[in-house]
Amino acid sequence: MADSDSNITPIGKFGKFGLIDHLTNKFKAVNKSTVLGIGDDSAIIESGDMLTLISSDLLLEGIHFNLTYTPLKHLGYKAVIRAISDIYAMNGTPGQVIISIGVSARFAVEQLDELYEGISMACEKYGTDLAGGDTTSSLTGLTIGVTAAGFVERGNVARRDGAKPNDIICVTGDFGASFMGLQLLERERKIFKTHSGIQPDLSGYEYVIGRQLKPEFPSETLADLRKNSLQPSSMIDISDGLASDLLHICNASHTGCRIYSDKIPIDQETYRLAEEFRIDPLTAALNGGEDYELLFTLPLEMFEKIRKISSVKVIGHMTSPDFGKILVSDAGSETELTAQGWEKQE
Ligand code: ADP
Ligand code: MG
Repeated sequence: MADSDSNITPIGKFGKFGLIDHLTNKFKAVNKSTVLGIGDDSAIIESGDMLTLISSDLLLEGIHFNLTYTPLKHLGYKAVIRAISDIYAMNGTPGQVIISIGVSARFAVEQLDELYEGISMACEKYGTDLAGGDTTSSLTGLTIGVTAAGFVERGNVARRDGAKPNDIICVTGDFGASFMGLQLLERERKIFKTHSGIQPDLSGYEYVIGRQLKPEFPSETLADLRKNSLQPSSMIDISDGLASDLLHICNASHTGCRIYSDKIPIDQETYRLAEEFRIDPLTAALNGGEDYELLFTLPLEMFEKIRKISSVKVIGHMTSPDFGKILVSDAGSETELTAQGWEKQE
């Protein structure tokens, strides 16, 4: 679809997922070892008894982070979490990260030491090795590219395309906190820029800020599922937003879904802050993104078993595609589930 005047198509016309599809749809895997290529959280590669998982993630200064309020140690930590989150999302275990950085001359070695301290802390906590990377100079600030590798037993792999009608939809954690944390940090940054005497007031909002700056991943829940022989029929990590990522599962699995707004976990701090910003907390929860939680489906028969795992909440169920993708409000009214994250440029 070219612009009639100039023969140039603006990237914005496609949106993130349209652009990925446009660029990659002609690529067909030629190697038998490529079990699954583009389209899920990680690629799956045949490797003997186990399957290897690989995923890659890019962080750009000014797009993904602002160093005015992001400590470099936290940034390093978050860069690792973002990447290994996609390995966990296949029900895998991360093993290695390869980290490439582009650094401008304005950075001092001590700052990069901080970044790598954060990387080291996350690697240690999640049992992952820093196994390589690349270092180059940059004209435009800091760039961090992380490739994560991991493995999964053949029978345990959880893809986006395995959900069936009537499967229950499960989530870990709570939603919208990271998004509200970002709104608060951005507001305080702007105030500080125009009135540099005023110190940012972030007290009472430590949880949402922590969720934005130094997220964790609920890897213990995956261990609990395994211990209880609960094999998800599909799974995704929530990075773009609960709505967007649930729609990814619906689209890949060719199903509809029905979720209930009163079942979506939202923390008290997220509520309070959303009220202050006059943002609907449910909108923040559904579309905020960067939650780094798990969304997965299980056969209905597993309902009693999953209720015993306290870190997991059931928010609805899958349906056949003709029932649509539905959000049921507290009052019982139904709306089509849409994803603002869907067309958003990441
Ligand atoms: P996630 O949010 O789980 O990291 P993305 O939404 O970033 O996944 O990407 C969706 C799919 O598209 C993934 O399988 C990813 O590997 C693939 N992908 C994204 N960008 C590109 C690209 N430039 N070239 C090839 N594949 C890509
Ligand atoms: Mg993902």
